[in-house]
Amino acid sequence: MTTKTSTYQQLREHLHELKLVAAAEGLPATLDKASSEDLTHIEFLKNLLDIEVGASRQRRHDSLERFARLPGPWHVDDFDFDAQPGVDPKQIRELETLRFVEDATNVLFVGPPGVGKTMLATALARSSIDAGYRTFYTTAAELAAKCHKASIEGRWATTMRFYAGPRLLIVDELGYLPMKAEAASALFQVISQRYLKGSIILTTNIGIGAGWGQVFDDPTIAAAMLDRLLHRCVVCQIDGPSYRMRSYQAHADRLRQTPT
Ligand code: ADP
Ligand code: MG
Repeated sequence: MTTKTSTYQQLREHLHELKLVAAAEGLPATLDKASSEDLTHIEFLKNLLDIEVGASRQRRHDSLERFARLPGPWHVDDFDFDAQPGVDPKQIRELETLRFVEDATNVLFVGPPGVGKTMLATALARSSIDAGYRTFYTTAAELAAKCHKASIEGRWATTMRFYAGPRLLIVDELGYLPMKAEAASALFQVISQRYLKGSIILTTNIGIGAGWGQVFDDPTIAAAMLDRLLHRCVVCQIDGPSYRMRSYQAHADRLRQTPT
């Protein structure tokens, strides 16, 4: 009995020393299950390691999720395709397979406010995290501000390396604010260094072409950016109604119908 106890204790200590904490905690229950169900040694060991592997995957997922800083909880399944006939469900389902991430294709969501650009970009980012890809969300304005600060503080190269790192980078809301020359060149550099290496999902309210020249104040840099972005790119143009206005409309209709 004493030997049994001490072997058990030693096993627990080994598991802790190897930092297999989840397996150590799951040991008593896994042992009980093995003896009550008369499991083989192999089955017992597999059950024990399942616990540790599960915990390790969960930790990695949580860490990817924290790193990505997604702005919302949306999944592709939450998107109401009927409400947005401008979006092709087949195209979004295809993007959800993440083949575009594997071959460093970009995705561009173009359309007016409220049509679901951020929601779709975030939902694809979530699939990417679930698949284990390092993913990062930023807005164009935040990227510009970070790069500006980095250049003042002498951290330009580190910051550029940071934006080159994730397998998938989401740059949301390009075009809502005009971009000064410095911001435009930061974005250009981010796009250039990811070119054919890592995907970008970019959302914008400005139509491809003439509009870009105006936002960037410099048609040459705008053209160079578009050239790289569009070379390998899926463009999803959303021209339908605003979902925000739709819920506002429904709310207004309800208020109107409420007897006073
Ligand atoms: P955009 O980025 O194009 O301005 P958002 O993605 O922020 O639009 O969408 C605005 C709001 O409407 C969000 O709360 C979003 O979840 C919701 N929304 C937009 N389109 C849809 C849709 N087709 N189905 C469900 N919710 C939607
Ligand atoms: Mg948005």
